[in-house]
Amino acid sequence: MLQGLTSDDYQLVLPTILRRAETLYQNQEIVTRRPDKSFHRYTYVDFIARAKKFALALKDLGVEPGDRVGTLCSNHYQHLETYFGVPSGGAVVHTINPRLHEDDLAYIVNHAEDKVLLVDEALLSVYESFREEVNVEHVIVVSESGEDIPDGMLSYEDVLSGADEGDFSYPEIDEKQAAAMCYTSGTTGRPKGALYSHRALVLHAMMANMSNVFGFNDSDCILPIVPMFHVNAWGLPFSATLAGAKQMMPGAHLDPASILEDFEQEKVTFTAGVPTVFMGVLQTLDEEPEKHDLSAMRAIVIGGSAAPKSLIEAYKERHGVTVIHAWGMTEMSPIGTVANLKGELEQLPEEEQLEYRSKQGYPVPFIEIRAREDEGSLVPWNDEAMGELEVSGPWVSKAYYNAPEEDEEFTEDGWFKTGDIVSIDEQGYINIQDRDKDLVKSGGEWISSVQLENALMAHAAVAEAAVIAIPHEKWDERPLAVVVLKEGESATEDDLKSHLAGDFAKFWLPDAVEFIEEIPKTATGKFLKKELREQFEDYQFAQS
Ligand code: ADP
Repeated sequence: MLQGLTSDDYQLVLPTILRRAETLYQNQEIVTRRPDKSFHRYTYVDFIARAKKFALALKDLGVEPGDRVGTLCSNHYQHLETYFGVPSGGAVVHTINPRLHEDDLAYIVNHAEDKVLLVDEALLSVYESFREEVNVEHVIVVSESGEDIPDGMLSYEDVLSGADEGDFSYPEIDEKQAAAMCYTSGTTGRPKGALYSHRALVLHAMMANMSNVFGFNDSDCILPIVPMFHVNAWGLPFSATLAGAKQMMPGAHLDPASILEDFEQEKVTFTAGVPTVFMGVLQTLDEEPEKHDLSAMRAIVIGGSAAPKSLIEAYKERHGVTVIHAWGMTEMSPIGTVANLKGELEQLPEEEQLEYRSKQGYPVPFIEIRAREDEGSLVPWNDEAMGELEVSGPWVSKAYYNAPEEDEEFTEDGWFKTGDIVSIDEQGYINIQDRDKDLVKSGGEWISSVQLENALMAHAAVAEAAVIAIPHEKWDERPLAVVVLKEGESATEDDLKSHLAGDFAKFWLPDAVEFIEEIPKTATGKFLKKELREQFEDYQFAQS
């Protein structure tokens, strides 16, 4: 074989992004909303110096290459520092969703074997809820004041001040080494860990910056509303830093008024989040359209759940803002498809263009897709035939972290089975039609139907229980529990809700319980959720 004569040993690692940024974009700004709503501003020079200090400090704390450093943090500059500081020292930054139930949090921290945990001062109570169950060596508190750090914990600022960035030199890192990790909900079992390599994250960042994806550049100001614990804020901190873009971090201030203020004041050109957030923002915009100026905004990326066509249309028609609908998964770092308009479709009438923009989009470069019917054959790309979407590409998981038993989600030839039922049109745009996984997605967060069902069926009066997702205007989906009582037993909706209350996060609790005679079942006795969903097709919650 004639070998190429290019530098194929050049390692695609996150420090290459940092080195580029520190030589080319020193003066670019990063702005954060502090907890008290005031603004913290600094430049890439400061950011990178502090990221390096954190890498050094972790080493002093005994963190070695490959060790996991957990974060329980909102979107702010310190979290950005860990995104780069942790992997630049060779360790793995493990972002954790603080909205999960304490049992899941403890499980995740233990399963990942987090050695250090970085916790926002405002989220210390979350840590307290599971601290007895875990065994981390150091807890570092992110606090603007640096005061009142609980005994036995370290202050992030103190940790940094003990290090001198001049002592930092980039270690040799293999691009296949792990850089970041994130857990996703299991339908039945425990959360599962996706472990991202440096190479996956670098290629993902480069992909995002292509003009037919998001196309960030150094004139942009990017504000991730999607939390940094939610699949690396969809990779935005990495792609924004690669592009040398200004970054605006909203902290914990995610109410529409604060977000709109940030958009205008910092001239945000690009933002991203789940539909629920942008419905709230739209409502505020609609109430006082003349009060807000979104002229700087190039596009809003909406994903995580289906963005309604009416939402995409409303932003364009009423506020002149383009919505880019995107689909992805934790197992895909996360971006898979993006609904930009292909060049040849730009000639179509507006209404038809909107049809394409409302789908989940066509695969981004290096992601390959196919969909398979129940019988095993691949479906044609004709916009009608439906099948389970399978994906492959350089940032798609090939296994879960330390979970060899979880291999049924991968095909024999190594593609990942998404659990999303789609049709694919002739242009390659996917349309998600259904979900083949027992989960409800509420405001971008997962709720496991199966776990709720098991808990309901543990109630003495319950014979059978099934939990299904009901479309919801604000949260996209909310859980409905459908229950069959044992003969001669009784229980009210309130009885069952309070039975669940202690064991699940509050937002997991079903909005309503409906009592029926029998749950439809397959020949083998499994719940026929599809039929149940049809039965409750027009269901509306009394109040939410
Ligand atoms: P994320 O929420 O960041 O996309 P998750 O791994 O939590 O990542 O969830 C992935 C799942 O969310 C997908 O398999 C799909 O069911 C659903 N999903 C994500 N984006 C969309 C979308 N644009 N439309 C419909 N469903 C979506």
